[in-house]
Amino acid sequence: MTAAARTGAAEAGPRVTDHRGGVWSIAVPIPDNPLGHTLVHLVETGRGPVLVDTGWDDPDAWDTLTAGITACGFDVTDLHGVLITHHHPDHHGLSARVREASGAWIAMHAADADVVRRTREAEPGRWLDYLVTKLTAAGAPDEHLAPLRAARAEGRVRGLPGQRAALPDREITPGALLDLPGRRLRAVWTPGHTPGHVCLHLEEDHPAQRPGHGRLFSGDHLLPGISPHIGLYEDPDDTTPTDPLGDYLASLEHVARLAPAEVLPAHQHAFTDAAGRVRELLVHHEERLAGLRALLAVPRTPWQLAEAMEWNRPWERIPYGSRNIAVSEAEAHLRHLVRRGLAEAVPGSEPVTYRAV
Ligand SMILES: [Zn+2]
Ligand SMILES: [Zn+2]
Repeated sequence: MTAAARTGAAEAGPRVTDHRGGVWSIAVPIPDNPLGHTLVHLVETGRGPVLVDTGWDDPDAWDTLTAGITACGFDVTDLHGVLITHHHPDHHGLSARVREASGAWIAMHAADADVVRRTREAEPGRWLDYLVTKLTAAGAPDEHLAPLRAARAEGRVRGLPGQRAALPDREITPGALLDLPGRRLRAVWTPGHTPGHVCLHLEEDHPAQRPGHGRLFSGDHLLPGISPHIGLYEDPDDTTPTDPLGDYLASLEHVARLAPAEVLPAHQHAFTDAAGRVRELLVHHEERLAGLRALLAVPRTPWQLAEAMEWNRPWERIPYGSRNIAVSEAEAHLRHLVRRGLAEAVPGSEPVTYRAV
C-alpha cells in the first residue's frame, strides 16, 4: 500500500477489525507516542457491549473511539462496562469519559486501583520528595537532581499525570469469571508490568476453530514485537521489597500454560502461538540478566548500571524523564538478580553499589 493510500484509509474512518464471535478491536491513537495506537477491544454481551481498555485521554482518541464503537454497530451510550487491563494512561485514560457518556461501570484489579487512588490523592510536593530520595539512593548525579530540587524549593510543582484518572467501581478478582451474560471471560492476574495487570481469557471456541483454548486479551503483558517496561512498583508508602521482574516472568509462564488459540494484545496486532512468544521473551530476559550480571563484575550503582545498559538509543540521547524510567528498570533487574542470589549489595557502599556473586 502506498503512503497516500494509507492516509486515505485513515481519513475514511477508524481502523476497526472484526475478530468475529462478537469481538472487535478499535485502533485508538496515542498522541506523540511511537507505539501509535492502543487496540481497544469491544466484546458483545447479553447486557450490551463492554470495552477492554479505553485509550488515551485526548479529543482525537475520543472521536476515534466513539466512531469505532459506531462502526462495530453500537453506540457509546450502549456500553455496559469497561474492563481495564492496567492503570496506564494509554489504557485507562478515557474511562471517566466513557462512564460519563454511558453509565458503564469500570473494573480493575485491586492493586492497580490502589495506584489510581494514590495518584489522585498524592500531594505533588511529596511525590517530588520521594523521587529525589529514590534517585539519590540510586546514585543519580547532582546535575540530574538539580532541576527536581529547584522545582521543590521554588514550589514549582505541577499536577501529576493521572490525577484525573477514574476511580474504578468494581474489582477484577483473579481467577474469577466475570459477570457477563452470554460470555465466558475469566480474569488472569499477570503482575509485572504493573502490580495489578490482568489478562482476560475468553474461554470460548475460536471462531475460526484454531487449535488452542479460546482467546486472550493480553493488555501490555504479552505483545508480538516488543517487551513491556518492567520497573519498580513505585509506592512511597510501601517499603515491602517486591520483585516485579520475577512477577513478570512468572506471569509469562502462567499465560503460556493457558495455551490460547489467539492473543489479542493492546498494541501492535493479534497473533497466535502464545507459548512461542513467551519462550522468546523468557530467553530475551535471561540473556539480558546475564549481560547485566557481566556488567556487575565492577560494582555499580543502579544509575551507573542504567548508563551501561543497552537501550534503544545512546544514554546521552535519552530524555530526562525517560532516564528515571530507565533507572527504575535497572533497579527491577538488580532486585531480581539479588533475589536469585546472582548479585549482592556491596556492604558499606553509599550510595549502594551492587556486584555479581
Ligand atoms: Zn502499560
Ligand atoms: Zn500500553
